[in-house]
Amino acid sequence: MKLNRSIFRFSYLALQRRYVFPKIFLKDINDLEIDVLRSHSIQGVVFDIDQTLSLPNENKINERVLNSFLRIQSAFKVCALSNLELAMSSEAAFSRGLEFERLYNLRVILPKLKKPHPSGFRLARRYLNLKPPHIAFIGDRLLTDTIGANYSRFYSIQVAPLDITADEPTIRIFRRFENLILHTHNFFHPKSSPTEE
Ligand SMILES: [Mg+2]
Repeated sequence: MKLNRSIFRFSYLALQRRYVFPKIFLKDINDLEIDVLRSHSIQGVVFDIDQTLSLPNENKINERVLNSFLRIQSAFKVCALSNLELAMSSEAAFSRGLEFERLYNLRVILPKLKKPHPSGFRLARRYLNLKPPHIAFIGDRLLTDTIGANYSRFYSIQVAPLDITADEPTIRIFRRFENLILHTHNFFHPKSSPTEE
């Protein structure tokens, strides 16, 4: 019985680690190398929008990351999967999503059940027509993007948010908790860039 309990506890911890931590953590999406993705057999990339590609109040991709986005878009199949800030009305989120589609030819998936629920990841996987291990998910939030991506077996890449002062108050609280988890595992102090798990 004692052995069973130990196996259960070990499995539980292993599963937690597997789901919680990103495969790669980057302070800046501009540090992401196409060759690193290719070396992991990545053929498609799904982007989070808020604080990854754009500030929550912007209707376009932030200038700081635009070149990286275009570089990735030219190398892989891409789409976006966004909760588009929960405070936003569904009409506003829909029109903001359409704006991204129009400007960047980027399919934006706005799932009814928000990340980390697997339904949105399933829609992204079907749109890209790829198997999950060949899809990288790039997002800024541990509890929604990274855990959701890991659970759906995507290759999870977490990036630092573009500007935390633009966060909603509730997201700031969540982010503190997420940062604490990452800090305890030295994700913010990579020995070399990029850090790989
Ligand atoms: Mg985000």
